[in-house]
Amino acid sequence: MSFEKEKSVAIAATQAAATICEQVRQTMVPEAIEKKDKSPVTVADFGAQAVVCKALAEAFPNDPVVGEEDAGELKTPEMAARLQQVTDYVKQVAPEATPELVSQWIDHGNGKVADRYWTLDPIDGTKGFLRKDQYAVALAMVADGEIKVGVLACPALTLDLAGESVTGILFVAVRGEGATMQALAGGEPERIKVTNSADTEHFRFVESVEAEHGDQRLQQAIAQAAGITTDSIRMDSQAKYGAVASGNAVLYLRLPSPKYPGYQEKIWDHAAGVLVVEEAGGRVTDMYGKKLDFAKADRLDTTGVVVSNGEIHDQVLLALKQIEDS
Ligand code: AMP
Ligand code: MG
Repeated sequence: MSFEKEKSVAIAATQAAATICEQVRQTMVPEAIEKKDKSPVTVADFGAQAVVCKALAEAFPNDPVVGEEDAGELKTPEMAARLQQVTDYVKQVAPEATPELVSQWIDHGNGKVADRYWTLDPIDGTKGFLRKDQYAVALAMVADGEIKVGVLACPALTLDLAGESVTGILFVAVRGEGATMQALAGGEPERIKVTNSADTEHFRFVESVEAEHGDQRLQQAIAQAAGITTDSIRMDSQAKYGAVASGNAVLYLRLPSPKYPGYQEKIWDHAAGVLVVEEAGGRVTDMYGKKLDFAKADRLDTTGVVVSNGEIHDQVLLALKQIEDS
């Protein structure tokens, strides 16, 4: 199966979502609303989830969508002005939007993991978004336990595309068909491949900006054990998966934060990125070498995440084992 329709709907939906996010960044100082788990959410997160869910509901009405956000609080009377703000942004890409429709679209993303489902992070890296750093709109379709389609829009990422420096990159992968990147604003998709370890310029690793989303001391030690001598590149969001997939880094480490040892990774923080890296020839496992399982729940039953060019993967896992054993 080639998932042509899934791919084109996902590309158009993430592009529309990214347009809203960039509009918000350019026209207001996005304010963080604190969620129950203390993580931030903005009008752009809600707007992005609304437009992606709308597109998926229309094209694939039977597919559940497991999205990060829900409209629960946004629908309360105290939040009416905020919901109106979200609606005004959504109208720019979906003119029929009303506060009621926007809430419905957002809540379409309250689905559960099923045999076939989509998972969406409308803004992955909200903290990066607020800081004017990296963020991504991440959308993936999972069927029969496998990620089949992954699309990652990175509006603030600058990479070389056909010899030109382009800001705003769209990564697309379909299982068995490889991975590409293209200008988010539109352009020819270019095949991407992870880089090999002889490429000394790109023999470097990426990790989160937020120190609490990982274990930067251990990440540094493991990278060194794998032969990486330069400092990490710190980047918010699944743009890190894009960096490995496009050969701009050989390793992305996300080891459990000593501050939050029981933290469970969420499917929407990884699904799209995993397929992009795998289809670019790389490898993704947890810190014990286990594949990430997207078939069961919205939380991953994994400890840490290791993303590599494949070539250095076993060496990284061995270094992790040796440090754990000692
Ligand atoms: P990043 O931009 O790579 O640092 O990742 C952002 C994501 O980290 C958010 O979408 C959160 O879901 C997730 N996150 C929040 N707390 C933690 C934590 N303690 N460990 C790992 N990831 C976390
Ligand atoms: Mg996220």
